Amino acid sequence: MRIRATVSSVVQSMTVLVPIFADQLSRRLSSLMNAKKEVTLVLMMEVEDEASNVWHHRRKLVFLFSAMRHFAQELREAGWAVEYVRLNDKANTVSFSGEIKRLAGMHDVERVQVTEPGDWRVDQAMRGIGEELGIPVRIMTDDRFLTTKAEFREWAQGRKQLRMEYFYREKRRQTGLLMDGDNPQGGEWNYDSENRKPAKGDLFMPQPLGFEPDAVTSDVIEMVLERFPDRFGEVSDFRMAVTSTDAGKAAGHFMSCALESFGDYQDAMLEGEAFLYHSILAPYMNAGLLDPLELCRMAETAYREKRAPLNAVEGFIRQIIGWREYVRGIYWLKMPDYLDGNFLDARRPLPEFYWTGATRMNCVSQVVGQTRKHAYSHHIQRLMITGNFALLAGIRPQEVHEWYLAVYADAFDWVEVPNTIGMALFADGGVMASKPYAASASYINRMSDFCGACHYDHGARTSDTACPFNALYWDFLARNREKLENNPRMKMMYRNLDRMDDLDAIRSRAVYVLDGMSRGVI
Ligand code: FAD
Repeated sequence: MRIRATVSSVVQSMTVLVPIFADQLSRRLSSLMNAKKEVTLVLMMEVEDEASNVWHHRRKLVFLFSAMRHFAQELREAGWAVEYVRLNDKANTVSFSGEIKRLAGMHDVERVQVTEPGDWRVDQAMRGIGEELGIPVRIMTDDRFLTTKAEFREWAQGRKQLRMEYFYREKRRQTGLLMDGDNPQGGEWNYDSENRKPAKGDLFMPQPLGFEPDAVTSDVIEMVLERFPDRFGEVSDFRMAVTSTDAGKAAGHFMSCALESFGDYQDAMLEGEAFLYHSILAPYMNAGLLDPLELCRMAETAYREKRAPLNAVEGFIRQIIGWREYVRGIYWLKMPDYLDGNFLDARRPLPEFYWTGATRMNCVSQVVGQTRKHAYSHHIQRLMITGNFALLAGIRPQEVHEWYLAVYADAFDWVEVPNTIGMALFADGGVMASKPYAASASYINRMSDFCGACHYDHGARTSDTACPFNALYWDFLARNREKLENNPRMKMMYRNLDRMDDLDAIRSRAVYVLDGMSRGVI
């Protein structure tokens, strides 16, 4: 294979093996920054174990494999020796550990040097591999994040509640983003209350910048379609960026076309509009193609140059230096037990319609449909449609987690697990969220236009066509009373529940809905 010939001619005496994973595609990666080209062999691996640990969306696989192949090429052009193992290579041992051992056996490797993986399972494997190989493994801090694992642990220590808001303020001070001396720009730290407007259809709605697949991407598409014929997700019309240059163009496009309205319509949902004014940059940040802090600086410049209002820019920056950093901190603080959390004792299996979209609930069907098409849905769709339904219906958190990890192009364990287990399902008992994000159809109707075309009636609770979210919402509160009623933020909900005079009928409807769910007929 051409790449191997290049490797042996470039590296004379190989000493340091630097594995780079699919979410580490950055030239500024700590393991690379601290390596010398002459004595380094970079190892990149497409392996079956990772492609199939959950039922990953085919678009996600195409994105990651293509971005990896492009990155390998970029490194080679910059003079690095790269061993690139393709999924279909005969010698491929199907796992990261297997490949590292195989390559270490082929070359005179005296040390493995790796930037800490974003996944607890892979991190454990890297920590164990040194002993197996009998050579040292140097695991380096991932400085693409603002907060190290140790710093987050220190921040968390002694706090009764780990609320994002306080963490976020520290990050604002640390970075100086949107600061006016010691004070937040505009006088407030957080403009979220201004970011809840419903949206209307707009013929000029911005669309994310797309890129024609090149020969490398086309090869990957062919491989993925051939190898994973039964997988969830469409790959036709693949237009994602697969290089940092193109991802940078997509970011520039967002800053000039959509950021301005990002805040106002951040929580809005519209049928047929998957993206609204969202950035669609998470896959690029998470894979390493874009630097999160640079994006925040770009957004801040847009504010200072009066191209975008404060509520939009603050909102965007908060999601990145606040939420994104915070969920990573929670993940590393709480894993591995975090993944087993099931505070509300939810035990129902994930309904089939999460994969097929075949349900008469228009909101769920729309969100699953666009997820299948784009490997994307925006935050409120994830939280308040598919997440909310799973919460209300009592779906087993670990099955819901596997679904989210599989279906989104931006899904990696460190960010998906806290968002699903903690934020969406309250399965961590309130480590992340101060109360469950449970909502009935009235929220969905207020924030979207999904209810208009729905088979179900968003205003009804007990009739044959009453929206399932309504009966499930009240049943959820009644069912979990013991665990939730003393939560100060839930008091109002329980007062409302106690005022209901049709609770028995509502709970009967919930039984009917849950039964219909298990038979695939809602
Ligand atoms: P925008 O709306 O444009 O936001 C800008 C950026 O802020 C995002 O790109 C992202 O990097 C960051 N961000 C926003 N909210 C969050 C958050 N809650 N946690 C972390 N970062 C955030 N995000 C992922 O990156 N990967 C996941 O696997 C993932 N799984 C999720 C699962 C559930 C159940 C929920 C409720 C949320 C999940 N999120 C995840 C968070 C969020 O939904 C996505 O980051 C966002 O929808 C990505 O789209 P965007 O790039 O258009 O984001």
